[in-house]
Amino acid sequence: MNFEELHALYRQPLFDLISQSRAVHLRHWRGEEVQRCTLLSIKTGGCSEDCAYCAQSSHYSTGVEREALLSLENILTAARRARSQGATRFCMGAAWRGVHDGSEKFERVLEIVREVSQLGMEVCVTLGEIGPVEARKLKAAGVTAYNHNIDTSPEFYPEIVSTHTFQDRLNTIAAVQESGMSVCCGGIIGMGESEADRLRMLEVLSDFGPPPESVPINCLMAMPGTPLADQAPVDIFELVRLIAVTRIALPKARVRLAAGRTRISREGQAFCFFAGANSIFYGDKLLTAKNPTADLDVALLRELGLHVESTQGVTPSWPSKGRDG
Ligand code: SAM
Ligand code: SF4
Repeated sequence: MNFEELHALYRQPLFDLISQSRAVHLRHWRGEEVQRCTLLSIKTGGCSEDCAYCAQSSHYSTGVEREALLSLENILTAARRARSQGATRFCMGAAWRGVHDGSEKFERVLEIVREVSQLGMEVCVTLGEIGPVEARKLKAAGVTAYNHNIDTSPEFYPEIVSTHTFQDRLNTIAAVQESGMSVCCGGIIGMGESEADRLRMLEVLSDFGPPPESVPINCLMAMPGTPLADQAPVDIFELVRLIAVTRIALPKARVRLAAGRTRISREGQAFCFFAGANSIFYGDKLLTAKNPTADLDVALLRELGLHVESTQGVTPSWPSKGRDG
């Protein structure tokens, strides 16, 4: 969809927009199915990049310490726990600019992926910049999807990051697409960007060939010590509008209500699901930021009567209190 179309959708009266996005959602997603995806930081802090939102950048004093790559054993323990709590997708994130074939860390990541992919969940990784060789090897090791967010519009990106470019991000995404892995790609709102920047981001995403399989919409978690520490929280209706337009522009994508849910009320989250979000990050921590606890999420999904995906298939969350809770 082009910018004008996205803008026309976005500017409608809110209930007209949501009615449209709900119709698209029902057509493509059989109603009420929410995927729970757990995100684990397998390598935290000390990143060379200067992304203004990120607590893991070594350019800022955020109190996040540089840690080594977690051991395979610790990662497997976390993955099994996520699965037992109901996650069907396990995403592993590393605070790196990127990884290269032939390096020790890449070999270790491949081994981790081989093991985690035996657990029956979708496996997603977000390791920064990669090229075609790394992408092919990750796919062969068992990665389902590679996350690499464009984060905002091409025009606003240089205001947020100076150590790599928007084009660098697109190059990685092209390598992922070529390998046959699914692309998970979205962005952050609340960084000081304009409404037009948000829609430009969607324009770029909806132009991907093939379209991204999953689109995380993050609300900035304003991290102390970063240049964006004092940004105000995102207005709930702006978030709902963006989710609704994303659902219409990318009907088959999982629209993931990602970072920032701790600042959104239960009613606000319900509104986001109604507008087209059908996935959440699940588990108490999101890389270095807080996330609602798993039991709060299960309680919310249950109260809304939303179905959740499990490794056994799609199940309703509400009749089986003992099972998830
Ligand atoms: N280093 C890799 C990269 O940049 O692609 C992977 C990890 S990075 C932390 C993954 C994504 O987390 C970022 O692209 C960004 O969208 C999101 N993120 C990081 N910090 C955030 C924050 N404070 N608020 C919201 N989203 C954030
Ligand atoms: Fe590094 Fe990724 Fe954080 Fe940017 S977003 S500073 S690349 S960990």
